[in-house]
Amino acid sequence: MRMRVGEAVMGRYDRQLIEFSAEEQESIRRSNIGVVGCGGLGTYVSTALALAGVGKLVMIDPDVPEESNLNRQFVYCKHVLSGKKPKPKAELMKEWIGSMNPEVETEAHVGRFTDESAHIFDGCDVMVDCLDSVSSRMTLNRYAVKTGKPLVHGAIDGFTGQLCTIIPRKTPCLRCMLGDLSDSGKTPASIGSVAMTIGSLESTEVLKLVAGREDASRGRFFSYDFADGRVTPVDFQIDPDCPVCGPSPEHRI
Ligand SMILES: [Zn+2]
Repeated sequence: MRMRVGEAVMGRYDRQLIEFSAEEQESIRRSNIGVVGCGGLGTYVSTALALAGVGKLVMIDPDVPEESNLNRQFVYCKHVLSGKKPKPKAELMKEWIGSMNPEVETEAHVGRFTDESAHIFDGCDVMVDCLDSVSSRMTLNRYAVKTGKPLVHGAIDGFTGQLCTIIPRKTPCLRCMLGDLSDSGKTPASIGSVAMTIGSLESTEVLKLVAGREDASRGRFFSYDFADGRVTPVDFQIDPDCPVCGPSPEHRI
């Protein structure tokens, strides 16, 4: 990596090194990020983090891309349009990241995020929620709280989106904020530009976390309505009876 700050060395990170110090960029380079889901959010989160020079991306997704993904999951266009059966998304993301920034180490897992598969993320510093399944999202929230890993949550539905950065036991967890949700069974509407916007916001949160930046917005839940141009921050409190992060271990799930 051509990164010698203070010298006139032109490198791929020059423009972000105007904002990040050399130490912060080094922290980014050493970071190991778990990206759960390689769909509309995950393709953009992994792309943005690889471009920023994170050290490692661990990615998981159970699916193979199909034509209905292509309004947002740009990485898979040529593979779907080739007419041949594409490889799983996680493997294609690994190839894509390698072609974009070979300095980034990648690990691809084909499967779902479950209590059984979660251990593959044990080496990660930060987890990123790029899921569209509420039950998997709650499993990820439990894993993040159990392991003490910061979790960046993002979700989209049509012109709306949401974003929150959770620091286990310092901020409310997803269960404190959203309650006991389950999957509605409906396929959420997905607009590519909205997926990229929320994915971009998630990646920015990850970069601030791994660079060690303090951020007063942590634990705040941001609800976006792009149709009306509104962003609504909501301040939740840690729920003392939360079965995931609450202080009563006998109630924990
Ligand atoms: Zn909680």
